[in-house]
Amino acid sequence: MTTPLTETRSTCPYCGTGCGVIVQARGEQIVGVRGDPDHPANLGKLCPKGQALHLTATPAVIAQARLHTPQVRATRDAAFTPTNWETALATAADRFAAAIREHGPDSVAFYVSGQLLTEDYYVFNKLARALVGTNNIDSNSRLCMSSAVVGYKLTLGADAPPCSYEDVELADCVFVAGANPALAHPVLFGRLLEARRRRGSKLIVADPRVSETALAADLHLQLAPGTDLYLLTALLGVMLRDGLVNETFIASHTTGFAALAAQVRALPLAEAARITRVPAAAIERAARWFAGAQSSLSLWCQGLNQSSHGSDNSAALIHLHLACGQIGRAGTGPFSLTGQPNAMGGRETGSMATLLPGHRDPADPADRAALARFWRVGAVPANPGLSAVELFDACRQGRIKALWVACTNPAQSMPMQTSVRAALATLPFLVVQEAFATETTALADLILPAATWGERSGTMSNSERRISLSRAAVAPPGQARPDWAIAAAFARALAARIAPELAPRFMWSSPRAVFDEYKQLTAGRDLDIATLDYARLALGPVSWPYINRSGTERLYTDLRFATPDGRARFAAIALRGAAAATDSHRPIALTTVRLRDQWHGASRSGTALPLAPAALELAPATATELGLADDDLVRVTSAHGELILPLRLSHTLAPGLASLTLHQGERWLPGSLGINALTGAALDPLARQPELKHVPVGLTKIELAWHGALVTRLAADQIAPALTALRAGLAPLAHAAIGVFAAGEQTGLIALAAHHERPPALLLELATIGAISPAAPVLNDARSGRSRVLQISAGRLAGVILEGSCRADLAAWPLYQKLITSGADCSARSLRELFAPELAGS
Ligand code: SF4
Repeated sequence: MTTPLTETRSTCPYCGTGCGVIVQARGEQIVGVRGDPDHPANLGKLCPKGQALHLTATPAVIAQARLHTPQVRATRDAAFTPTNWETALATAADRFAAAIREHGPDSVAFYVSGQLLTEDYYVFNKLARALVGTNNIDSNSRLCMSSAVVGYKLTLGADAPPCSYEDVELADCVFVAGANPALAHPVLFGRLLEARRRRGSKLIVADPRVSETALAADLHLQLAPGTDLYLLTALLGVMLRDGLVNETFIASHTTGFAALAAQVRALPLAEAARITRVPAAAIERAARWFAGAQSSLSLWCQGLNQSSHGSDNSAALIHLHLACGQIGRAGTGPFSLTGQPNAMGGRETGSMATLLPGHRDPADPADRAALARFWRVGAVPANPGLSAVELFDACRQGRIKALWVACTNPAQSMPMQTSVRAALATLPFLVVQEAFATETTALADLILPAATWGERSGTMSNSERRISLSRAAVAPPGQARPDWAIAAAFARALAARIAPELAPRFMWSSPRAVFDEYKQLTAGRDLDIATLDYARLALGPVSWPYINRSGTERLYTDLRFATPDGRARFAAIALRGAAAATDSHRPIALTTVRLRDQWHGASRSGTALPLAPAALELAPATATELGLADDDLVRVTSAHGELILPLRLSHTLAPGLASLTLHQGERWLPGSLGINALTGAALDPLARQPELKHVPVGLTKIELAWHGALVTRLAADQIAPALTALRAGLAPLAHAAIGVFAAGEQTGLIALAAHHERPPALLLELATIGAISPAAPVLNDARSGRSRVLQISAGRLAGVILEGSCRADLAAWPLYQKLITSGADCSARSLRELFAPELAGS
């Protein structure tokens, strides 16, 4: 008898859109997923990442890519050995307790993730601040949302995005600044486009690239990288000059406008146009559209946030809404898009060093006292905690003796990887709590296997403050446990060593019990959910604050803001560009971008969705100026590190700009530190967010004697072991980049490599990995010097190894990939015929 299909309502674990998904399972196996038609965020739609979620939970992926059991090792060069939970937690507790006793509570730290559930965050927070007595708890949300947090607080008085997704559909003018929702928030962007078709609303996009979102715009402001503040100030300048501001709104509901207006008037439009490289007429048109529309809404994300002046960027964008009275009504308001699925939950629970639960402030004695009373501890520490970049600096300096990393991969995602790797190597004790094997788990002393999407239950808040239940459909594999349960068990083990009386306060029976404790900390706060419970959430998602049994779709409709006097504030901003300017040594501004079908470090999405080998994109005119051509191999050098990458010319980039997708860490670029080897850590002074969107780099063409590629079809369950073997085999080479492809049933791998000399042993290894038989036919083309080994199985091309003496000799790999994925009948073709397309070009 077939096991019956069950369906469980849950939430997508990728982007901050927070789509509802219905998880289909047979027994303990997830077999399908579909969009939840009743979820207000997506109304049944899913993007390709969401649609492929079940493919990241197949038996093969679970067996090969997941962590199943606690693992420990005595030294970093030793192999991991499996252990049980009791021993693992005792080991961790011993090491943390020893550090706290010898060096004080600030000698340990927790680095958590925007992908945790709200309940997980809360337990970690209580563990750090109430039990250990440190504010050293920060989240990878520091890398994406902390500028928006500060921008909201500076202007509106609270970290509360005022809009709902419905407003995107009700706006007459949408201004997208520093975001590419077409790829990063595809379902929301689909709603925007559909509404635009219906009501003819205007779309303005400010982006240095001709992004997929910019392509859909009525007006694209293609600004020079790092000049956002000048553009936003110039927009306000035009509004002021042309009398487009709403003086009644400014006088009745804001403070600080006179001082800002003086600053804005001091920037002539012509000067702003020169700095931003946006024509003055385009700035004027955008200002008129925004101010003149019945309802204007802005969307922003990492383009504004990941800047050394991200807080000012966010505030300057919000100023436009305040100056025009475009807030507090349907279809209006500044709307930050969260990158991660529950970054908002992290902000609500205070899971960054600069925040406390319930939107409290660790620098405020009254807020600390309130928490200490609630947790029944003597005090919540006053010492400022370390934000992400500062935390890894402290590790490198030997000030942190034990670090706990949960559900994030700093050895891929943090800027300045050389320095971060040095920090992790210096750390006396590193615990990594994770679901998938990553660059960071490979560096740990202790690995703790965590449950993940489909296996864990709790709550998540999306970009529009909407709280949804994320429900388990199956049990976690092996010994994996939910994150909150791991943190709670560790807290009890640690308490037994440093404060036994606190151990019972870390005893919860379920995530629901954690939620019921946490929510009390929101009573009377701007995000009040004290009367919300799982029973209500089971009926459907709710936006906070939840008052009188009802959620709040839109904030500030009474035009009273979350400041002491109820007025929104025009904040002082300091006009400036990127922290590090390009110069004659590093003349190119590098920015980091996302792909639609991958997610951050690709530890989950990389198991099921395509990812092409990394390449540096550059404007054709700039390449010509530098004497470079498409597909040249270049050494990319920043002040922080270097990488060897192939060049891909792209008309989407303005001259002087280069871009790299952020997904490729060491696992996809073996032998390197991944793309964050290049990025720097200039910080926003308030948000402490690093400037990941602007890195000056130099490019030099490099010549290597040998170039090789493997393109091979593999069954889905063969990919993970093949990747492991490839990574090890390719790491010693001068350059290597790995990709995966998936087209229908056809899945496989691409490996591109270059070295100072031909590596014969590696070629044998590639043949083994690619299942290419030693008897496979070889074509040595004397004229071009190229060699191709071809595997045909059952009449279909199954794999190919390409070799040559220059990068151009690999240029045909996409053709072979097409031939492989198309499944075309190759049995009747001769070798020469198969290679004809590329030989024609030689
Ligand atoms: Fe929705 Fe984002 Fe998930 Fe795509 S990745 S399904 S847009 S939540």
